[in-house]
Amino acid sequence: MAFDTSLKYAILGIARSGIAAAYKIKELGGDVFLSDSVPVDRVANSAELVQDFECEFGGHSKRLFDCACWIVSPGIPLDIEILNKARAKGIELISEIEFGYRIKAPDSRIIAVTGSNGKSTTASLIHHLLQSLGKNSILAGNIGAAFCSFPIHLPGIEYIVLEISSFQLDLIQSFAPQVAILLNLSPDHLNRYPSYEAYCLSKMRIFENQSAADYAIYFRDSEQTLKLLPDLAAQQLCFSMDNPLADAYLKGKEIIIGQERLNTDKLIIKGPHNYQNLIAALLAIKAIGGNLKKAVDACYTFKGLSHRLEYVDTIRGVKFYNDSKATNCDSVKSALNSFEVPIRIIMGGSDKGEDFGQLTPLLKQKAQKVYITGATLSRMQEAWEGKLDLALEPDFDAAVKLAFAEALPGESIVLSPACASFDRFQNFEERGEYFKDLVRELKA
Ligand code: ADP
Repeated sequence: MAFDTSLKYAILGIARSGIAAAYKIKELGGDVFLSDSVPVDRVANSAELVQDFECEFGGHSKRLFDCACWIVSPGIPLDIEILNKARAKGIELISEIEFGYRIKAPDSRIIAVTGSNGKSTTASLIHHLLQSLGKNSILAGNIGAAFCSFPIHLPGIEYIVLEISSFQLDLIQSFAPQVAILLNLSPDHLNRYPSYEAYCLSKMRIFENQSAADYAIYFRDSEQTLKLLPDLAAQQLCFSMDNPLADAYLKGKEIIIGQERLNTDKLIIKGPHNYQNLIAALLAIKAIGGNLKKAVDACYTFKGLSHRLEYVDTIRGVKFYNDSKATNCDSVKSALNSFEVPIRIIMGGSDKGEDFGQLTPLLKQKAQKVYITGATLSRMQEAWEGKLDLALEPDFDAAVKLAFAEALPGESIVLSPACASFDRFQNFEERGEYFKDLVRELKA
């Protein structure tokens, strides 16, 4: 779909992806109005934005309704009044991903990754593999820079690897990736969706507009995925942690994909969850007809991402790991399953509405002590009191220091919160960096 310069656009929610879309609209000669409910002093780069665009801050005015198409920030819940009004007036509501898809050059192929956990790791891995194969690719979406911040309207980018959240998928219409990957499903963002099923169905939309020339990749061990998977128009590739009927699977310590074998002992990244991510990434390479042998070799050089079970340092024989990105229970399960011996785990933060009780059996087995902190302290205490060895420390620094004071040489301390970070930090990156600074302080 070509860009329509006669249409007036609005950006609702002035943040990373919306700003990128606004500059793209301007670059393409279109008209755009930016609107945010937060006051001007809380919007980064507001002075520059005011110079470059028509903007309003601190509330939404009638001017928004002069715009026929609104690009809605993924951070905005879809049931707020102004969006209901817009729908009633027939205004088109889309996500930045949908907008980017409409204006991208037709020859760029999209490999889109969604799922509850592992999106960033898998998307980065695919980008790493593509580059190792000499392909021209960009990594965009929820990871790194926004989709629209790249010159996607120009020809020349062979592959666009996109990390996509359910919030972005909620407002797609025509978005149809050549390769769509649904990694896994587990409860997340329950504060935003009416039910777990509604959240899962939103993820399924990644396959919605695909055609027979495209590929749909999914995890066949996930009952929830199999239950909700729609009739797929695309060609299917599935992966498994043990089933040889899958297109790629794990057998003992080897990943098997066609004639190729990958030895998981030789990888830098660890843990069964990362093997799933690797298998999915290799299937994406298979889908585009890439050289699988070379791709398998390139897996051995992938270092993993910061804040995902990132090794920090060893002090007095105690190892520290930063898994600040573990913002839901499922990702904490992945962390716990990645260690051979019990760990001291630091948990808690801002609440996403999950049932922490689901972690009790695994924590019992894999954590010698749980240090709880942050805004979820009382909810976690309620779930685990009398069942697990707990330390209650409202203060994050004190929790880390206590864990270290109690740890013996040979043990590991892991920050894997099961919660978002907004009770104290801007985002999970800031929390992870803060944790790493504390470790540095302890070392000093
Ligand atoms: P996302 O972008 O979906 O949040 P990340 O790759 O950033 O995923 O990883 C987030 C957290 O989830 C990390 O703590 C990581 O240890 C865990 N994780 C990564 N991949 C998986 C997976 N396939 N299944 C479950 N947990 C995972």
